[in-house]
Amino acid sequence: MTDTDLIDEAVAILARGGLVAFPTETVYGLGADAQNPVAVRRIFAVKGRPAQHPLIVHVASAAELPRWVTDVPPAAVELARRFWPGPLTLVLHRSPRIPLEVTGGLETVALRVPAHPVAQELLRRFGGAIAAPSANRFGSVSPTTAQHVRDDLGDAVDMVLDGGPCDVGVESTIVDLSGPEPALLRPGGIAREALQHALGVPLRQPSAPSVRAPGQHPLHYAPRAQVILVEPPRIVAEALRLEQAGRHVGVLLPPGVTLPENFGGVALPVPLSLELYAHELYSLLRDFDRRNCDVIVAALPPEEGLGAAIADRLRRAAGPRRRGARSRP
Ligand code: AMP
Ligand code: MG
Repeated sequence: MTDTDLIDEAVAILARGGLVAFPTETVYGLGADAQNPVAVRRIFAVKGRPAQHPLIVHVASAAELPRWVTDVPPAAVELARRFWPGPLTLVLHRSPRIPLEVTGGLETVALRVPAHPVAQELLRRFGGAIAAPSANRFGSVSPTTAQHVRDDLGDAVDMVLDGGPCDVGVESTIVDLSGPEPALLRPGGIAREALQHALGVPLRQPSAPSVRAPGQHPLHYAPRAQVILVEPPRIVAEALRLEQAGRHVGVLLPPGVTLPENFGGVALPVPLSLELYAHELYSLLRDFDRRNCDVIVAALPPEEGLGAAIADRLRRAAGPRRRGARSRP
């Protein structure tokens, strides 16, 4: 647990408009005082994130909701009661206390109460709201350890609070409660099934991906290596084909699948449960980069529970790349 002096220092940095990276149970966040537009603009600059992509605002408890939104619908009360603190983000109508810099110009705001004890303590002592996207450069793999943050952002952040590896390992589930029906904007740490059970209605899936939602950006969560998704039975053949073509191949190897002795690439086993897989996913992707793989072959897990979030991140990691984007340093 981070000692309280460090948290006090982090609070002082936030209060003077600085940036603090801090652990949450999902991934590490890059935090700024949500009510300070200058500080918030620095988040976008450091991440290289387009200004219209809204940030998630973190608050200490559900009791804070009326301070930051104009109305709290019954569905928000119910989901907050069941899942906060936890990996669930709710989109509601913003109060004027939330500057438009935070919301990318939208009249709605995404709010979450994180469960990590360091995040909780930071929020309680700060007393305000902390705007925080993942503490990595825009589009790349989210950080799940303090070292990942230092690797990605170095001196660009004023302080990194180290709370150990993140428990959940993938981002929060985002539910939009600002419209007539609740909609699932991004699968994440809380399963769709659990949310639907709590709400008693199905969650609408937005049909067209919204530009407003970075989690919905076609290429996101991506390692440097190209990611190729195949059906599980084709993993071995695809890995060998790419190796023969001269590539340095990484394989996310599902249980029970084996590669021939002469395979010269990097095979990392898929963890045995969906919980462990989510927990390890981003570290595995970073491992392939560290070992200089230029392509990663993977299959999607079953899309139930946490599997939906893992599959979503793998699909986006395999998404279309802009020419020149994410080339090797
Ligand atoms: P990130 O912090 O990069 O993991 O992503 C923040 C996520 O918050 C994005 O995926 C957006 O979908 C979501 N988000 C934040 N604010 C809003 C909003 N007002 N409306 C819809 N989505 C939002
Ligand atoms: Mg992110």
